[in-house]
Amino acid sequence: MRPYACPNCHRLNHFEVRVCPGCRATLGYDPALDGFRFLADNATVWRDIDGEKADVVVCANNNDYGICNWLVATDDHTPMCRACRHNRTIPDITEPSVPPRWAKIEEAKRRLFHTLLKLGLPLETKAQERPGVQGLAFDFLYDPAAEQAGNPQIATGHDSGLVTLNLIEADDAERERIRHKMGEPYRTLLGHFRHEVGHHFWSRLVETDEDALAACRELFGDERVDYQQSMQEHYGERGKVWTDDYVSQYATMHPWEDFAETFAHYLHMVDVLATADGFDLAPSSPYGRRKEFDVSLGFDPYSADAKTLAEAMGPLSFAMNAMNRSMGLPDLYPFHLSDMIVAKLDFVQRVLAGAREEPHEAQAA
Ligand SMILES: [Zn+2]
Ligand SMILES: [Zn+2]
Ligand SMILES: [Zn+2]
Repeated sequence: MRPYACPNCHRLNHFEVRVCPGCRATLGYDPALDGFRFLADNATVWRDIDGEKADVVVCANNNDYGICNWLVATDDHTPMCRACRHNRTIPDITEPSVPPRWAKIEEAKRRLFHTLLKLGLPLETKAQERPGVQGLAFDFLYDPAAEQAGNPQIATGHDSGLVTLNLIEADDAERERIRHKMGEPYRTLLGHFRHEVGHHFWSRLVETDEDALAACRELFGDERVDYQQSMQEHYGERGKVWTDDYVSQYATMHPWEDFAETFAHYLHMVDVLATADGFDLAPSSPYGRRKEFDVSLGFDPYSADAKTLAEAMGPLSFAMNAMNRSMGLPDLYPFHLSDMIVAKLDFVQRVLAGAREEPHEAQAA
């Protein structure tokens, strides 16, 4: 995402900030504005960078639990912000390890929703569900077995628009242990969210559209193959080899997982390129000006086609990986995009573009 400035002192701040380190103003992100507002006039009014007032309040999850920095219009039908209104179950916060982990989860979820809203995707809650329109909800669950014995009883996953996330995923050491065990080059909370809502949008936008479903099967395979059997094969000896037709090894397991992994990857690319664009990052080759290594975005990542995104990712990710290696860190972007993966990304992009709502319409839903 592009960087956001404090509307009071104009200092650039990260998306998660709640008090500007520059001027000490209390900040709130307003999705309808796509920017921060600051609390002015002895903490009575929220104003934007031009000093304009707005009838907004902090999200109820901030008032009650201090875990959200988003604002919600006073005349909205719920006191919850665009991201928090999809929570169905919140974890037991009397357990001491829970509040900091839940806060990390909500931070990742707000980054997810930021991209979903920028893409103008339809976002119904479970209360707004109707025939053919699946709502989206989250259960965030504390799992004592996972904490104490390292043997999770609650699986992170998706079922009919309900995303379940085991709170242990917010534990860096545990997530890194699983990443290593599974041989994954990349495992993050934000990645989980992007993957699981990918399943939701498959049901919401692909399954309900005959033509999209047929095109999806052409590219990703037939999702009617037995899921349980595919899973057993994946974790057994008969698992498919990870070829460069798939964006990750997990994607080889079943067409549903391939779609969800590809969906997540599309969101990764859009967000990374929006960030690069926001900072005017344009890597160019230091040795001669080879054309393929000069990137100037000059396009809107939220509406660009997959080929354009993939072409821009090449040199940018090479530069970002070089940057990480300078700090002794693993590659920021440990992926290679084959033509087949780009074709799948293109499908995802077109499905989402076809569902795009007008930004203000999406805000008012
Ligand atoms: Zn400030
Ligand atoms: Zn909220
Ligand atoms: Zn999945």
